[in-house]
Amino acid sequence: MLMQDCAGFVTGVANHRSIAWATARALDREGARLALGYLGERELESIERITGQLRQPPLLVQCDVTDDESVASAFEVVGREVGSLDCLVHAIAFARREDLDGRFADTSRSGYDLALGVSAYSLNVLVRGAEALMKPGAGVVALTYLGSERAIPRYNVMGVAKAALESGIRYLASELGEKGIRVNGLSAGPIRTLAARGIRDFNAMLRVHAERAALKRNNEVDEIGDAALFLCSRLSRGMTGEVMYVDAGYRIMGL
Ligand code: NAP
Repeated sequence: MLMQDCAGFVTGVANHRSIAWATARALDREGARLALGYLGERELESIERITGQLRQPPLLVQCDVTDDESVASAFEVVGREVGSLDCLVHAIAFARREDLDGRFADTSRSGYDLALGVSAYSLNVLVRGAEALMKPGAGVVALTYLGSERAIPRYNVMGVAKAALESGIRYLASELGEKGIRVNGLSAGPIRTLAARGIRDFNAMLRVHAERAALKRNNEVDEIGDAALFLCSRLSRGMTGEVMYVDAGYRIMGL
């Protein structure tokens, strides 16, 4: 029980396919008490349908990362009901469909601001909210993708958001290190989730990935959840500011 007597705040559970849900299940399996952040009433209904699968009933907290009041109130509730935190999981991203479908050059100013605000600046917002609750040794994990460093077709503005997120991980790690708080990124191979449905030809992306990856397959969502558990737990206590790849060996391959 790696996370016995530990508590975590996991954001980004939309449904049973979410990477955040695989992470929540891994943390729960290892004994963590969890708070799960949800965006609105629609998402709450969908989360409530699956939380019975967890060993310990989680605290469900409304948390919209674009709204400072919502985030402040979420951490107030987490602090009151859960107490201190051993980990924080950022599994949040959003871009308008037209900004993923079209040319990157044509991304609108508002679409660019929206994608970077929800997908990258949100890490600052969550870390600021959680900082006072996090114990020395606590781990923050943010989900990212290879589109941050390579021009992946149709990833467009989300690639720029992931580059900002990964850079933010390093700055936050450098600032929070003195408190013993660690901040790491987890770069996952493509997984069929709700967010992934926003990317046109996602099936082609999965096919190419499986053809080219060293392991000659796609990733299972639980592989990402288990890696996130590692980054949350004391097993990774010597790591901060890193981006760890769990992509079935796609990035290491040449053409
Ligand atoms: P997902 O299940 O759709 O999760 C995305 C989450 O972000 C949803 O729960 C969504 O809530 C939430 N979100 C969007 N706007 C928000 C806001 N303003 N405040 C709070 N939450 C908000 O998809 P996922 O694929 O698991 O995505 C999780 C993370 O993994 C993302 O950072 C994604 O970029 C990353 N990732 C995904 C893949 C992949 O292939 N799937 C690969 C690498 C990295 P609603 O659904 O309720 O809007």
